Amino acid sequence: MNARVIDGKAIAAELRGQVAAGVAELKQRHGLTPGLAVVLVGGDPASQVYVTNKKKMTVEVGMRSFDYQLPADTTREALLAKVAELNADPGVHGILVQLPLPRKEDEALVIEAIDPAKDVDGFHPFNAGRLMTGQGGLIPCTPLGCLILLKRTLGDLSGKHAVVIGRSNIVGKPVAQLLLAESCTVTICHSRSRDIEALVRQGDIVVAAVGIPEMVKAGWIKPGATIIDVGINRIEKEGKTRLVGDAAYEEVSKIAGAITPVPGGVGPMTIACLLRNTLQAACRQHAVTCNVIAA
Ligand code: NAD
Repeated sequence: MNARVIDGKAIAAELRGQVAAGVAELKQRHGLTPGLAVVLVGGDPASQVYVTNKKKMTVEVGMRSFDYQLPADTTREALLAKVAELNADPGVHGILVQLPLPRKEDEALVIEAIDPAKDVDGFHPFNAGRLMTGQGGLIPCTPLGCLILLKRTLGDLSGKHAVVIGRSNIVGKPVAQLLLAESCTVTICHSRSRDIEALVRQGDIVVAAVGIPEMVKAGWIKPGATIIDVGINRIEKEGKTRLVGDAAYEEVSKIAGAITPVPGGVGPMTIACLLRNTLQAACRQHAVTCNVIAA
């Protein structure tokens, strides 16, 4: 039996539609238009594509989009000054500094400089801490997208064994925290884990966020498990560049109960959740209630 394909593209489009309705209501009731500022330092081609898509979708849901393309040699001081300017701008409700930065060592400093109330990427230690302590805050976009896909597929996640592969601050760790908050039993695997196959085989849910093309094989999967493949890997096949995930889709989909494709699974959810977070941030900053879509 082939696994059910989890259609992230369709679910993301639905989420963007709900955000657009929330934005329209905010404008009508309170005369407020949420604004999202995106700062891109340097000309990384993958980041350029991502930023262009963000801008298009921000405008489509009725928000204001502010773009700042800074040269790769922008000093740390100049970047921090730009963040401070956006923190102080009342028309900007969400700030996203596109990672990776040309100077990786500046990333933590820049993230901490963003006002936590405007930290729509959810990477600020304040929001990470609130996620860990179950206090609610701005949740990182890709992990939130994974959770929405899982809940749409499985409903109640309570008691399920979730295996997360990867422990990065932007995907693995926050996904694990979100699943713990849903009362899953959570195992986190990483580059030093031993007998990873046996660990993954315990999962009713497997979230793969590693960045190794087609690493997760059919033999690692418990029959009927739900697979969320976060990986986006470019590979050369027969002279063409193809996008593949961290799971070997063809073989894994014969064993799994449900699986996200790459592309068209988790990817589209990330921007939809960014827009959702921007709406949530705008509502909170103005102390107004609005129907921000729950995870
Ligand atoms: P990262 O490089 O920061 O982290 C990778 C993690 O994988 C690390 O924690 C490491 O311990 C673990 N790892 C490495 N080798 C391993 C191995 N052999 N076995 C088990 N674990 C291993 O990457 P990231 O930023 O978390 O991204 C992971 C993947 O997700 C990448 O392919 C990235 O492109 C993709 N991604 C997709 C989206 C999206 O919107 N869909 C967003 C962010 C990241």
